[in-house]
Amino acid sequence: MTKEEYYQKNKDKIILYQKSYRQEHFEKIKAYLEKNKQKIKERKKSYYQERAQFVLDYKRDKGCSKCGWNKHPEILQFHHTKGDKSFSVGSAIGNKKNEVIKAEMDKCILLCPNCHFLLHLRKTKTPNKLTQPN
Ligand SMILES: [Zn+2]
Repeated sequence: MTKEEYYQKNKDKIILYQKSYRQEHFEKIKAYLEKNKQKIKERKKSYYQERAQFVLDYKRDKGCSKCGWNKHPEILQFHHTKGDKSFSVGSAIGNKKNEVIKAEMDKCILLCPNCHFLLHLRKTKTPNKLTQPN
């Protein structure tokens, strides 16, 4: 069983334990957080940057799945095509692990803003209302 599977299986118990631990050691935790404020802030920032870089590299490697564009990978967008959407990739960067994010990214195709917009436009409008590209 992986750590993630263990967590999912025992989620309720773990959350309850964490809650009671926090209540019991409230003052101690508060003092620790206060004392290490700057360190914690920097660590969070570096985690975030490391994950953002991971997502960016993934985007650059793949490019837009329709037109191949990858000049500015930061604006490529994930479009869910396979399986259920568990979360949006952008919102997960701050709080989920790389392998969890990767699994979610693999459920998607990458699209540049143009192709993504067109795809949704085609879904909502009947084709004869769209201007056909020449
Ligand atoms: Zn495209």
